[in-house]
Amino acid sequence: MADSTTTPGVELDGVSVSFGDVPALADVRLSIPEGEFFTLVGPSGCGKTTTLRTLAGFETPASGTVRIGGTDVTDQPPEDRDVGIVFQNYALFPHMTVRENVAYGLRYRSPPGDVDGDERVTAMLELVDMAEMRARQPTSLSGGQQQRVALARALAPGPDVLLLDEPLSALDARLRERLRVKIREIQRELDITTVYVTHDQEEALAISDRIAVVNDGRVEQIGTPRDVYHNPATRFVAAFMGENNVFEARVESRDPPRVSVHGTTLPLEASLPDREQVTVCVRPEDVSLGGGDVTLSANVEHVEFLGDASRIHCTWNGQSMLVKGRRVPDGGTVSLGIDAADVTVVGRRES
Ligand code: ATP
Repeated sequence: MADSTTTPGVELDGVSVSFGDVPALADVRLSIPEGEFFTLVGPSGCGKTTTLRTLAGFETPASGTVRIGGTDVTDQPPEDRDVGIVFQNYALFPHMTVRENVAYGLRYRSPPGDVDGDERVTAMLELVDMAEMRARQPTSLSGGQQQRVALARALAPGPDVLLLDEPLSALDARLRERLRVKIREIQRELDITTVYVTHDQEEALAISDRIAVVNDGRVEQIGTPRDVYHNPATRFVAAFMGENNVFEARVESRDPPRVSVHGTTLPLEASLPDREQVTVCVRPEDVSLGGGDVTLSANVEHVEFLGDASRIHCTWNGQSMLVKGRRVPDGGTVSLGIDAADVTVVGRRES
């Protein structure tokens, strides 16, 4: 987290952006310390790309301030901002070789440090493991290789900030996982402030120092991956960040903490807020087949075998309950166990 000694690499201060009458971002506030890997995650149309385009200077905010490295860049055109960008669809020049594409990144800027352009291009191609393919045309490369070249091109001028807009979403699942590890390695090696956009929750959890969960043009929560996963601030975050069982509950007692969900009492370890109605959630992997602090009787509706585990769709008191585990019931009625420690109150942060 940023403290008073950390320079913010990137800041959005009360930024709102509209397209005609349609508001795309509403009062977005982000402060991303230098060297942080920060991810914007949210459903399609929530405003992730607009946030990134506003940082890059392609969109002008109706109100608010954009700062990069502490400098107000709100009115600066994109070419004056010290940012490198990688888009979803590679965007390499097909008539140029790999090497020429990366050198193109240096057309307006000298390379950083005491090296000439050729040395810098070579260093960037080595960084992304593409030096061997420097003479190839982009059309002869795989999607993953093209994205590595696009990354080398964006990094060549040594930008202060790297902006990545769904750079892996056109790739197959296995390659996506490999390349996200590579991107994180490179980001750590260069210690470059990075803003990453994805709609993939797992990718966001895996790659980030911190995450902003965006919904309908607003930031719902900012936190570490563990924080947003285990302590969701809103019902939306609870349901969006990974699978979850989310229930409306009535407070039965505060000491000891207990809530009632569809007529069943659930004990909690978390303290309860000062309200009668709360939202609670239990992760599917925390529901056991067998007993727990509370045992529920449920019907198995459908089982999906995933290999390393199964998703067991159950109903309990007419409500759906998702369970994830290795044991697969035969069907019919099962006992589901929930432990008090695994019941989270939405919007209630553990201190
Ligand atoms: P996706 O994951 O589908 O790329 P996103 O979260 O990146 O979505 P944005 O592209 O930022 O979402 O769009 C935010 C909102 O602004 C959407 O309602 C979208 O329709 C609208 N929008 C984006 N660009 C424009 C534009 N050029 N003109 C009009 N409306 C736009």
